Amino acid sequence: MPSVFEVLTADGFEQVAYCHDASTGLRAIVAIHSTALGPGLGGTRFYPYASEDDALVDVCRLAKGMTYKHAVCGNDLGGGKAVILGDPATLRSEALFRAYGRFVEGLSGRYLTAEDVGTTQADMDVIRRETRHVTGVSESLGGSGDPSPATAWGVLWAIKAVAERLWGSPSLSGRHVCISGVGKVGGALAEHLAAEGAKLTVADVNGVAVDTVVTRDGAVAVTPESAHTVACDIFSPCALGAVLNATTIPELHCDAVVGSANNQLAEDDDAERLRDRGIVYAPDFVANAGGVINIAEEPHGYDRQRAYDRIRTIHDTLLRVFDRAEADGSTTAAAADLLAEERIASVSHTQLIRTGR
Ligand code: NAD
Repeated sequence: MPSVFEVLTADGFEQVAYCHDASTGLRAIVAIHSTALGPGLGGTRFYPYASEDDALVDVCRLAKGMTYKHAVCGNDLGGGKAVILGDPATLRSEALFRAYGRFVEGLSGRYLTAEDVGTTQADMDVIRRETRHVTGVSESLGGSGDPSPATAWGVLWAIKAVAERLWGSPSLSGRHVCISGVGKVGGALAEHLAAEGAKLTVADVNGVAVDTVVTRDGAVAVTPESAHTVACDIFSPCALGAVLNATTIPELHCDAVVGSANNQLAEDDDAERLRDRGIVYAPDFVANAGGVINIAEEPHGYDRQRAYDRIRTIHDTLLRVFDRAEADGSTTAAAADLLAEERIASVSHTQLIRTGR
């Protein structure tokens, strides 16, 4: 395992803070990758990591991902993420989250937290009793609520962008979309697509979730194992990561992949595998940015209409990604990374004007 500074310098991290509170058993790591565009915003993951090294690697990987996600979707936010080490089932307490909130407060707004795997909106409300540098709190506290409907709205506009590129029109009437995972995001997406006149096939390990969409939206159900093989216009992974890999990509029968799942590509080469098969890939961190665009509106006083109008811009962002990939002869994943890096490089100069540094 490389040293902490080797991990940080390899990927240009600004700061990693280790937090410990003996009385509550809190052990947390906050990673701030970049504040070039604004404070680092990303969720707090509460997870029983096998080792401290695993926790450090994970929090850094996630924080860097947030830098790119905020940058490409136009947020004035940087990349940050936090992990609390331990089992939330046994360790979670009001005192622990308040102790954590005090550490977040100590970062003076360089890091804004939010909910993630293992933490809930109720936890964010507790953290807020110690710091204002927290998003995703209850609506009664000025929060934006569950981000999933916003994420689904963004995926819909990503799918419309793909339709425009592939078939010359954003209309989804009669288009066949296969959604793998009809939970909070996939379920809401199915409802939008049905309203647009799309034909739906769905899969989920949860039979109740499938039944809801079949009954409400007239979807056809298939097994989770076969979802990616369904002959359709668009395959939409909305469950797990790494669903696009050397085994599944040759089995796809779609024109495009557009979904909400994080880290859909098992490895970087999978972007090329998709391109070689002529399948259009909407990079996951572009297509699923609706949730972070929504939450980025919170610090300004949340307004749902303003947030949802901004989420629609995912459509234009994705078209820019496709144009860039075409111009560079690169994959769409590489083009999205490049657009994010270019925005950071150009916009971060305005900070010099603001601060006079
Ligand atoms: P969720 O837990 O509500 O839904 C996931 C669904 O996938 C569940 O219904 C689950 O039963 C199903 N599932 C699990 N394993 C499956 C399998 N092997 N095959 C098919 N279905 C399976 O989660 P969500 O909030 O809807 O998020 C879905 C994905 O989108 C996740 O990867 C998440 O990280 C990502 N994402 C979510 C948001 C958001 O706002 N919720 C934002 C960005 C990214």
